[in-house]
Amino acid sequence: MRGHGQRSRHGTKATRTTSHKAIQPSNDAHHSSLRIGFGNDVHRLASGRKLILGGVHIPFELGPLGHSDGDAVAHAICDALLGAAALGDIGQHFPDTSPDWKDASSLDFLRHVAALLHMAGYALVNVDSTIELEKPRLAPFIEQMRANVADALGITVESVSVKAKSGEGIGEIGRGEAVRAEAVALISKQRL
Ligand SMILES: [Zn+2]
Repeated sequence: MRGHGQRSRHGTKATRTTSHKAIQPSNDAHHSSLRIGFGNDVHRLASGRKLILGGVHIPFELGPLGHSDGDAVAHAICDALLGAAALGDIGQHFPDTSPDWKDASSLDFLRHVAALLHMAGYALVNVDSTIELEKPRLAPFIEQMRANVADALGITVESVSVKAKSGEGIGEIGRGEAVRAEAVALISKQRL
């Protein structure tokens, strides 16, 4: 798409035909530069691990197994943001073989991903996420999760949605064996 504007300036043919504008994707200010991304994550639950979601420590007898703190919703949001920018995935940026990220707070992953996107010229528009967990009830912790994620990403809390649902007794979530999270993120290319 880049270069169409320049070419039409030189090519008289393109500027003369009225149909040109209708069939060519616009490259100017009217052209939307929004991009969407999706991410998901699952962690098995085990005893002796802290349950941390959206950077909030939730009192419970089980927590996610993982190299980092196993914060599934933070990981899903990282993947959604990286996906929106086509910058790979969380496993590439935070390999579980790397001692740098061992027992890292996943809020640091979010900070790092936000910085990567800014360097690539993107602004973060909003993120939406859902956590699936049978127990405990997450409603009392949702506002703090939103605040933590918004703070880590450097966006307003109104731009961060965190929702929670149980597994309705079905599957590995319903049996209380795992926590899962899904997220979508919208970003926009900054114009210079
Ligand atoms: Zn994870």
